[in-house]
Amino acid sequence: MKNIQFKKKYGQNFLKDDSIPKKIVAYSEIPEDTLVIEIGPGTGALTKELAPCCKQVIAYEIDDSLSPILADNLKMYSNIDIIYGDFLTRNIKEDLKNYSYSHLYVIANLPYYITTPILLKLIEEHISVDKIVVMVQKEVGIRFSAEPGSRDYSSITVFFHYYFQLKKLFDVSRNCFVPKPNVDSVILSFTKKEKQLPLKDQELFFQLVRDAFQYKRKTLKNNLKKYDLAIIEQVLSRYSLDLSVRAEALPLEIFVELSNALA
Ligand code: SAM
Repeated sequence: MKNIQFKKKYGQNFLKDDSIPKKIVAYSEIPEDTLVIEIGPGTGALTKELAPCCKQVIAYEIDDSLSPILADNLKMYSNIDIIYGDFLTRNIKEDLKNYSYSHLYVIANLPYYITTPILLKLIEEHISVDKIVVMVQKEVGIRFSAEPGSRDYSSITVFFHYYFQLKKLFDVSRNCFVPKPNVDSVILSFTKKEKQLPLKDQELFFQLVRDAFQYKRKTLKNNLKKYDLAIIEQVLSRYSLDLSVRAEALPLEIFVELSNALA
């Protein structure tokens, strides 16, 4: 790690040794013929463990000053393509057209300042990912896996639960990084559900969930004023609920039913 200028603005906390990347790859259980997308290879600590275990790695790195060190660290692998640029603005579907594969995995130690936008991009742009294994800040991990009724339950939790089965794999101490961050981390896996609840209008579902959580302390009656409240009331009454309920109390199934009733 000598001679590296760590850029805080890019969330650069690099893994210090090989043990954590090896463990991430082992837990990911990558099947044959898999293309792996990595966001933020840094100096390639995880990338070099991924390459021997999959068909192809595409790694997106915003910081092109890392290119000499990445080229050197990864020179023995021919199945890694590094794309220098911002993952958030990149047309991923277009990039994927250049490859053939049977499974698509996203495996990454994410830059923490954009964890949620990265995961939302994968969902909103309908990138057909079979599994996501990511390192996130511990508190964020708790929020993503929160159950209805808990303080951490949010719109993003509902979105993730719609598409994926979430599992915590293992914790990673802040001491495993250089420079050392102020927080501990956790590795989460998101496995695509084989069967999703049927949605009549996906855009409406996303908007409804966002609106329902807009002001967390407000009731559905206040947050969902722009929708047909009579229809919402009717659906809620099937669950012995009324418009005074808050979004954080509603499980995924009720959001799906509300969205389908309004569609
Ligand atoms: N994978 C490396 C590791 O585990 O040691 C580095 C992980 S570091 C937490 C996050 C990496 O994401 C950094 O290399 C950073 O430059 C990169 N990054 C930050 N923002 C990015 C973006 N918008 N698009 C692509 N890469 C980004």
